[in-house]
Amino acid sequence: MAVRTDHIAALVEIVGRDHALTERDLATRDPGIDPHNLGADLLVRPKTTAEVADVLRVCHDAHIGVVPQGGRTGISGGAVSQAGEIILSLERMNAIESLDPISRCAVVQAGVTLGALIKACHSHQLSPAMDLGARDSATLGGLASTNAGGSQAFRFGTMRDRLLGLEVVLADGTVITELGQVRKRNEGLALEQLFIGAEGILGVITRVSIALVDEDGPLAAALVGVSDVSAAVTLTDQLQRRSGIRLSSIEIMSGNHARISSQALGLTEFESLCVQPYVLLIEATAPSALAAEESLVQALAVPLETGLIVDAVIAQNEQQRQSMWRVREDWSVDRQYPGGLWYDVSVPIAHLAHYLDHFTTTLTAHDPGLSVFVVGHLADGNVHITVNATQPITARYEEIAPLVTTTLRAISGSFSAEHGIGLEKKATLVRELSMAKQTQMHRLKTLFDPHGIMNPGKVLSTPTPQ
Ligand SMILES: Cc1cc2nc3c(=O)[nH]c(=O)nc-3n(C[C@H](O)[C@H](O)[C@H](O)COP(=O)(O)OP(=O)(O)OC[C@H]3O[C@@H](n4cnc5c(N)ncnc54)[C@H](O)[C@@H]3O)c2cc1C
Repeated sequence: MAVRTDHIAALVEIVGRDHALTERDLATRDPGIDPHNLGADLLVRPKTTAEVADVLRVCHDAHIGVVPQGGRTGISGGAVSQAGEIILSLERMNAIESLDPISRCAVVQAGVTLGALIKACHSHQLSPAMDLGARDSATLGGLASTNAGGSQAFRFGTMRDRLLGLEVVLADGTVITELGQVRKRNEGLALEQLFIGAEGILGVITRVSIALVDEDGPLAAALVGVSDVSAAVTLTDQLQRRSGIRLSSIEIMSGNHARISSQALGLTEFESLCVQPYVLLIEATAPSALAAEESLVQALAVPLETGLIVDAVIAQNEQQRQSMWRVREDWSVDRQYPGGLWYDVSVPIAHLAHYLDHFTTTLTAHDPGLSVFVVGHLADGNVHITVNATQPITARYEEIAPLVTTTLRAISGSFSAEHGIGLEKKATLVRELSMAKQTQMHRLKTLFDPHGIMNPGKVLSTPTPQ
């Protein structure tokens, strides 16, 4: 049922006519990663926490579903909305309120993009210790709500490790402000931690305080070809144990991903290297560009001699370093095989080679017509597995998911690494989590959101608000 006109009028009253976008306005807007993100009847853009609280009070009283949205770059369907719901976009809450270079902490509104925060930190030679391909659209609220990881998580952890505090607005408009700027804070139950990774089902994050670290110096990068995942893992271990190199990223791509991306991008200089079964993108940082490159060259010399590395290219300049990242982050595989399936898993790195071998064998036995592509953050064992066929296979997600996830519990991995549950992994969550844990999650949801208005139907199967 559509949102009633008197409720729309009440919401327009709170945010102002210019900031309440109707279905017609939404039809002309970019929905982001998921084409169904803008299916709601209305999008409101509050400017302040008080406006967010007022919007939620109206929706709570009227039992209207509310879908919080940041940059709409989420990959699991967490920002999808539908008729009868409203979208609460944080895009106007985009101020960096403070950046304290001495305490190494920033307090920012939830709609600030990661790219904007990185830029602001850069002028103090600091960094939020978080980076990912969607940096210029993904917001701090979205990153916190999905507990995002990215390429630096092996050094600095995920958002849960970076955030010092949060401000959240609960479904009934209650505001909890816990914007601590200290690393040590034990003041009873850390309620705000529950909202990290909650994907908007418990409330709206309006502000965060985030710890900062020293910015990396100049970066040197290499693309490295190896014969299998076992060699990739051994190399990672050797590099991490080596003194004299400060690693910034260790990313992995299956050779088929690297070949398709580099060809599509016209990056012929990487063609011969990309014939290898797996390609790693390794970055090192040092106080000077020369020192970074030297440390990388020296670290790769012995593995090249022993044959652990089959082939390697060191970036000769900043442009070539960025080209290497384009190969890693490019989506040509998805364009070439539309309608593929994406899985996002964490594997203890010692088990990664066996896990991927076993999965590929099982998948091929299940259906020899399917192909597997892998990209991921090798150093923390987070791999994104894409399963494709010559035809779109979107409808086969649940059929293939058990092949991806069932071996993970035995090796203490995770069926959901960094993209959240959203709509996509809900059935997997029911299958993989203990009943005891699921029951407590439902209880918490009811406690914080008794009418079930917050991001209805995401993460947990809850009834739509009525
Ligand atoms: C090219 C590309 C690369 C990516 N790389 C990575 C990566 O390396 N690591 C990684 O972790 N992710 C990655 N992602 C996924 C995505 O960028 C992250 O999930 C990001 O955290 C989403 O932020 P967003 O602002 O776009 O959130 P949205 O997509 O708008 O929302 C995501 C979820 O958070 C909720 N939400 C958003 N804002 C709030 C708020 N203020 N309060 C409460 N709930 C809220 C939404 O309801 C939804 O459930 C990538 C995505 C793309 C497109």
